[in-house]
Amino acid sequence: MERPPKATLRETREHNEQLVLATIYDDGPVSRAEVARRTGLTRTTVSDVVERLISAGLAREVGRGPSTGGKAPILLQVPDDARLLVGVDLGDTVFRAATVNLRGEILHRIEVPSEDADGQAALDRALDLLDRLISMRTGPVVGIGIGAPGLIDTTDGTVVQAVKRDWRNLPLAAMVGARYGLPVYVANDSQVAALAEHVFGAVRSANLIGVKVGLGIGAGLVLNGELFQGDGFGAGEIGHTVVEPDGEVCRCGSRGCLETVASSRAVLARLQVLRGEPVSLEAAVEAFRQGDPGVRRVVLEAGSHLGAAVAGLVGALDVHRIVLAGTMAAFGEPWLDAVRASLRHGALPALARQVRLELGGIDDIVILGASALLMTRELGLNLRPSRTAGSVASGPADDRERGREEETQQSIDAILRPA
Ligand SMILES: [Zn+2]
Repeated sequence: MERPPKATLRETREHNEQLVLATIYDDGPVSRAEVARRTGLTRTTVSDVVERLISAGLAREVGRGPSTGGKAPILLQVPDDARLLVGVDLGDTVFRAATVNLRGEILHRIEVPSEDADGQAALDRALDLLDRLISMRTGPVVGIGIGAPGLIDTTDGTVVQAVKRDWRNLPLAAMVGARYGLPVYVANDSQVAALAEHVFGAVRSANLIGVKVGLGIGAGLVLNGELFQGDGFGAGEIGHTVVEPDGEVCRCGSRGCLETVASSRAVLARLQVLRGEPVSLEAAVEAFRQGDPGVRRVVLEAGSHLGAAVAGLVGALDVHRIVLAGTMAAFGEPWLDAVRASLRHGALPALARQVRLELGGIDDIVILGASALLMTRELGLNLRPSRTAGSVASGPADDRERGREEETQQSIDAILRPA
């Protein structure tokens, strides 16, 4: 067997910087000696790397820890605001963009309506929003993470097809990257939403299905702690699976897609027929809460269709934790119960019994998911909430180790890019 080529000096240096940064980020405040112990690097190497991280602003001395006999050690931490992430949600009705710190806290957030814009006009609107946000930045930016509906090739950030926007083979990451001179990552919005649930959800589980149900419907799959995108990046694209072959024409051109029966678009279209006039989502939610029988029937039927589709995912993947997000979640527990009942009916009972179906509780889920993707890909760190921010449990240690090992292969250039 051929031996792998020996790592160059530069690669070794990058690997060490990555390892030390990840250790300080995950475990700080932590001393140099403790970093050396945890990484297996020599104290001299750790000291050299720490000096470089400090001069790049990525580590800071934050006081002294308890003495273990000798002089009390100086503790190190990665400052939360050492770099900014730009997260973007190119949603069906609103484009949102925000600057996010290294702990997933949103610092500044702006938005613009997007429902009426297609093609180049939609793209121009997204770029205007980014221009505004980036001109207001208050520190060095790592890059831009974008979540968008549709089929997206995440290797180069090309939107292969976004039905709603009429985008086909749009090199979005390349265009945005050229405009701002920053690394840009683009991924499907449901996929990044699942990633956000995995990172910021109240429970950390190795496997998770996040289903985003708004004007469109898509699922994101986190398997073994990693976002699973499938062979062609389309994993979880359940919205255009045909569920009623003779059903209504979908915006994709097919008939009877899941979106034509279970999305908020489908619900509002049915209510419009029922009432003879357009109904807003807010009005529908209010009528639903008041117990309007027509509205309840339409909404619960939509939930039932969704449950049947989710049963298919449960049968294929046997994932126990499923989180529903998106505008349809505004219909709350009764809608969730309809989804649950249909899921139980549609999946093998032994599998369905294990499923914990819940409503997502994270605001700005796509922005945070896109930021998490950017942070992982660009800095090799798993974005995780600040420990002071709440009761979020961190993953099992072996999961974290595995993730770290894979990610240390990535380039460190971005980390040390001058602030
Ligand atoms: Zn369709």
